Amino acid sequence: MDSYLIQMNGNSDVHVHRNGNSPSLRKVKGRKPRWAVRASEMSKKTFNPIRAIVDTMKVEPNPNKPMISLSLGDPTVFGNLPTDDEVTQAVKEALDSGNYNGYAPSVGYQSCRQVVAAYYSCPEAPLEAQDVILTSGCSQAIELALAVLANPGQNILVPRPGFSLYKTLALSMGIEVKFYNLLPEKAWEIDLKHLESLVDEKTACLIVNNPSNPCGSVFSKSHLQKILAVASRQCVPILADEIYGDMVFAECKYEPIATLSTNVPILSCGGLAKRWLVPGWRMGWILVNDRRDIFGKEIRDGLVSLSQRILGPCTIVQGALEHIIHRTPPEFYHNTLSFLKSNADLCYAALSAVSGLQPIQPSGAMYLMVGIEMEHFPKFENDMEFTKQLISEQSVFCLPASCFEYPNFFRVVLTVPEELMVEACSRIQEFCERHYQGSEGAQDLECDK
Ligand SMILES: *Cc1c(COP(=O)(O)O)cnc(C)c1O
Repeated sequence: MDSYLIQMNGNSDVHVHRNGNSPSLRKVKGRKPRWAVRASEMSKKTFNPIRAIVDTMKVEPNPNKPMISLSLGDPTVFGNLPTDDEVTQAVKEALDSGNYNGYAPSVGYQSCRQVVAAYYSCPEAPLEAQDVILTSGCSQAIELALAVLANPGQNILVPRPGFSLYKTLALSMGIEVKFYNLLPEKAWEIDLKHLESLVDEKTACLIVNNPSNPCGSVFSKSHLQKILAVASRQCVPILADEIYGDMVFAECKYEPIATLSTNVPILSCGGLAKRWLVPGWRMGWILVNDRRDIFGKEIRDGLVSLSQRILGPCTIVQGALEHIIHRTPPEFYHNTLSFLKSNADLCYAALSAVSGLQPIQPSGAMYLMVGIEMEHFPKFENDMEFTKQLISEQSVFCLPASCFEYPNFFRVVLTVPEELMVEACSRIQEFCERHYQGSEGAQDLECDK
């Protein structure tokens, strides 16, 4: 960037004299300068609900049991899921080449945009380099997509339970959030009637997260078509968070939502973080799907302008992107998924056998949600109290689903080594057995045995 703007304080308390030989500064009469540096309104409107909840949950773990944290959605924390050697090699080569130390265009190098476009392009949703914007992680992709689609005072439709970043970003930008329900009894499909009832004239976009964090659910083709039908009927564009795209277990198929629509304009956000197991590398992208030219030049130009605020993702990772995408062996993806599936099965089987818990089988991503039958745990008021006590008695930390705007569930992260998964499940079982209170009838049945 060649030019920088020097900003003056809005209610300028300094005057610059242009007509004298040397500019001089003069204090405004009657105003005694004093320090009053305050955090901005925007910073005060910006907060991460997970932090807020987790901070209030601060509790000492059981000193006799080593802590098992199943809370962080970061596949690298246990060291058991390294990325592929080809991926690391690609970055080493990019670094050694010395060619990636400068600024790239703020939307990413043209050649990298081309690589991503070619990788995700398909006949039903064709993509070219100009349809791809590279970003600093999927988080920035979501931020840019929201910022280009919504004005302050408008609203967006967000899944509940859902990833907390959507709300954090929206409130920070003065955008209202309306939550639509997901239905646990229907494998977390969207309550489509509820969704449609929330649309109004101020609705700027619909966020669809598939596969889902925190649910681990994967929408079928026919469900995605029904979601598209709502968007199409109501003329609401879609922001698709597809960071877990292709991370689905063998028995089901992942359909990028844009491949199922010919008319709904869709910004699809993705990146390297989860599928390539390198969240720290901060490489994400927006794929612009707009076959009817509804976004048109305006939204594309808007995205380019917004990308200029921070000048795009790390150029070293951009330099490695082509090799990462072309040379990662299929076994790598396969092995990650079979590991996650095996942990999912293990966790589901173990927790299904526990009275008072209702795990919901995931089909992808790296999470499993567990319902708590609160009526059987009268000692605990809610999921926060439950998970808090689980830390203090069993040193197992799962996020209460209140972090995802959903009560009476907790989320299990499936990226832990298998032996820790087994140990965590048996501690959860011990905890539940200790606190479970059956109904009168259930207790009678127990006595008959
Ligand atoms: C992890 C995650 C992201 C953020 O990805 P980054 O590339 O690390 O910014 C976005 N959406 C969902 C649903 C996630 O789980």
